[in-house]
Amino acid sequence: MATRKVIQGTAIVRGKGLGKAYFIGRAVQDFTVETIPHHKVVEELDTFEEVRTKVKQYYRNYNMDTSEGHDESGEGTIMKIYEHIMDDPAFKGQVTEYISRKNYTVESAVRSVSKEFIDKFNSAGTSYFRDRSSDMVEICETLINFLNNGGNEKYTFSEDVVLVIDRSFTPSDIVNYNVNKIKGVVSKSAGRTSHAAILARSYSIPVITGVEDIKSRINPHEPVLINAYEDQIIIHPSSDECAEYTAYRERYLQAREVGAKRWHAPAYTPDGVHISVLANISFKDDVHMAQDNGADGIGLVRTEYLLSERETFPDEEEQFAYYSHIISEQNSREIVIRVMDIGGDKAAKFLKMPKEGNPFMGWRAVRILLERKELFRTQLRAIIRAGQGSNYKIMYPMVTSLSEWREIKQFTHVVADELGLPCPPLGILFEVPLAILEIDSFLEDIDFASIGTNDLIQYLSAADRNNSKVNYLYNPAEPAFLRIVDKAIDACTDKGIPISICGEMAGDPMYTIILLGLGLTRFSVIPAMVPIVKEIVSKINFLEIQEELSHLLSVTEIDNIADWIEKKNEELLSDIFERYQIDTVSHD
Ligand code: PEP
Ligand code: MG
Repeated sequence: MATRKVIQGTAIVRGKGLGKAYFIGRAVQDFTVETIPHHKVVEELDTFEEVRTKVKQYYRNYNMDTSEGHDESGEGTIMKIYEHIMDDPAFKGQVTEYISRKNYTVESAVRSVSKEFIDKFNSAGTSYFRDRSSDMVEICETLINFLNNGGNEKYTFSEDVVLVIDRSFTPSDIVNYNVNKIKGVVSKSAGRTSHAAILARSYSIPVITGVEDIKSRINPHEPVLINAYEDQIIIHPSSDECAEYTAYRERYLQAREVGAKRWHAPAYTPDGVHISVLANISFKDDVHMAQDNGADGIGLVRTEYLLSERETFPDEEEQFAYYSHIISEQNSREIVIRVMDIGGDKAAKFLKMPKEGNPFMGWRAVRILLERKELFRTQLRAIIRAGQGSNYKIMYPMVTSLSEWREIKQFTHVVADELGLPCPPLGILFEVPLAILEIDSFLEDIDFASIGTNDLIQYLSAADRNNSKVNYLYNPAEPAFLRIVDKAIDACTDKGIPISICGEMAGDPMYTIILLGLGLTRFSVIPAMVPIVKEIVSKINFLEIQEELSHLLSVTEIDNIADWIEKKNEELLSDIFERYQIDTVSHD
C-alpha cells in the first residue's frame, strides 16, 4: 500500500483540491520507452518528418509575423532558436536514428533525445545553458503536442488532476488545458499576484509553490490532496482526509451558490452608500461567470489573453467579434476594456519581444503599443466599433508620464475620428508609482481611474510579483502604500472622477474593510469573489469605518494596520469568513 507523505510549500492561492499528479514538462521527465515492430519504422520516420515540419512552420510563423528591430539583446528571438533546433542535425539526426535503429516510437525518440540534450545542458552549469535546457522542455512538449493533439487543441483531461510544475508557473500552464479538471497546482516558483496565480484564483484552483526537488518527491499519477490553507501537499491522502475534502467541497460549493443567487442585487453599506462590485475577466466566456456571480459590470477585461498561444496577431474583424461577444452579454451594464498589457509575464508569441533582463520594467503594455501603432490602431478600431451603443470605456495599463498619456489619448481620438464614431470615456490604470504619485496632474485629462495594486505593490516594494522568494514583501497592509492609495482615492473623489481598484487586493475579502475605510466605492474583482465582497459591504458602515481608519493611517508600523484588519474582520465579519471557509489571517 502506498504511503502517505506530506510536503510543505507556500500557498499563493487558497483552497483545497484533490486529483492525480500530472507533470507539466513530463515529456522529458518520466516516460517509458515504447518501440514499434521493424516494418513500421518507415511510417514512423514519415510521421516524425511531418510533425517536425509542422512545428518548424509553427515557430517560423511567429518570426514572420513580427517586424524587425526589437532584438536589443542581439541574442536572436527564442522562437528563432526553436525554429533552428528543428533543423539541427544533432537533434534531428539523433531522433531519426533512435527510430530507425532502436525502433523507438516518434514520441519515445523525441523524449529520449530531448532528455539527453537537457541533461547535457544542465551539467554545463551556466545560466545560458540552463536556459537552453528549458528551451528543450518547451520544444519537446510542442512536438509531443503536435503529435498527439494536432498542436493547437487544448489538452483535455479525463480525470481530475493536480498540475505539477517543476519550474515557474506561467499563464499558459492553465490556458493550455481544460481548467475544470485542474484541482490544484504545485510549482517550484510563482508569485502571489503573478498572472498565472490570478488565472488560477479566477477558476478556484489552489496553488502551492516554493517546492524544491519536485521530481523526486511526487510521482506521476499519484493521488495528491492540496490543502492550501495549511500550505500542505498530501501525497496518497488517507480515506479520512479524502472524505473530509469531499465534505469541504460540498460546503464550499453550496455557500458559493447561495451567495451568487443572493447578490444579484446592488450592494449598499448599512448607512446607505452604494458600492459597485464589478468583475475582472480574462477570457470571453468568463463574462458568464461574472453574470452568474451577480457582478454589476465588468471593471477589467484583460484583452491580452486574446493572444494566448496564438501564432498571429488577431485582425480587426476577429477582435471585433471577440469584444462584441463580451459587450453584447453585458446589455447596458458598464464594461471597461483594457488595451493589451503584453510583456512582463505575458509575452506574445507572435511579437518579436526583446530578451529582457527585467521584463516587468521593460517593454510592456502601452510602451509596446505606442511603438507598434499598427497593433494599437487595430485593437482600438475593433473596440470602438464593438462598443457602439453600449456602456463601454477604454483603459490603458502602465501609463507612466503625462506626455505619454496625452499621446495615447490623442491617438485614440484620431482612431475614433477615422471611424466617424464617438470616443468612449478613457481612463488610466494607475500602477506605476510615478503616475499615481502625480495623479492630480492627470485628473483634468481622464474620465476615470483604476488602481492596479498588483503592479503598484511590486514596483513600490521592488519585489517581482512572479518570484516566490520575495512573496513575503507583497503586503497590501503596508502603511506607505495605503497612504498613496488613500491620496489617489481622495484626489479622484474631490474632482468627481470615478476610481476603482482592480488589483487582487480588491478581491481579497481580508482587505475589503480597509478599502472601504479608505473611501473606495468601486471594486473590480474575480467573478467568484463578487458575492463575498458584496456581502461584506452590507455589514460595514462606510462613514464610521473611514473615521476609524483615518486615525491609523499616520502610523508607520505595519503591525498596527495588520492587527486592526484582523480584529475588525473577526469582530464584524467572522460569520461570512466561516461560511465561505476563508482565512481571516493575513497571507504571510
Ligand atoms: C494590476 O497590476 O493590479 C492589474 C490589475 O493589472 P495586471 O494584474 O493585469 O498586471
Ligand atoms: Mg498591472
